[in-house]
Amino acid sequence: MNLQAPDAATIDVLHERIRACRRCELQGFPISPPPLVFGRAPAPFMLIGQAPSLTDWREGRIYKGPAAQKLIGWLRDAGFDDRDLGRTVYMTALTKCFPGRQPGKSTDRAPSARERTNCREWLGAELALVQPRVVILFGKMAIDTILPAMPLTDAIGNTFDLGGRTYLPLPHSSGASTWLNDDSNRALLAQAIGRLSDLRRAIRPAQTQFTSVENIT
Ligand code: SF4
Repeated sequence: MNLQAPDAATIDVLHERIRACRRCELQGFPISPPPLVFGRAPAPFMLIGQAPSLTDWREGRIYKGPAAQKLIGWLRDAGFDDRDLGRTVYMTALTKCFPGRQPGKSTDRAPSARERTNCREWLGAELALVQPRVVILFGKMAIDTILPAMPLTDAIGNTFDLGGRTYLPLPHSSGASTWLNDDSNRALLAQAIGRLSDLRRAIRPAQTQFTSVENIT
């Protein structure tokens, strides 16, 4: 399949191409299209998570599920508000399709390495158009995909400058993760939110004409 992603001239054209992608389905992965993307380009911040959730798939928009609501609470703690979602902060994931549930479980299946490779070209095209100055990596899979290997305790609370961008890792907020049960890990999260707040104050455009989040596709 020729994805043609790097040739997309605008984010709308790229989103149209992403929404039409069925690569993983054609390879037999139990995903549930359509692919979900959300945001305008350019944007100073970009959020990269793992994959859309069941709630996202049902509602037709990424970052709608319970874990995402906790994440959005962290963004609010850093000073962002709902008008920033999809505008100041472009919102995407390593894979754009809901991967389905783990067999026999009520938790989501993690996208396989092959699916992530399939979707990498789309992520690269998003980065090329969004041109974020700060990339927020949400969860260990996103962190491990983008940054050199390191323990989560070394990643959370720190920032990493690579290729002219700053990467800021956050832990996953899913109830399935026990990492945040530890007091010292929660302190690292607070440190990460503090760093994100500093970056927001330094980078956020002075004046942005916001429209309703619901008008952003
Ligand atoms: S996960 Fe990505 S590569 Fe796979 S079908 Fe969805 S959009 Fe295409």
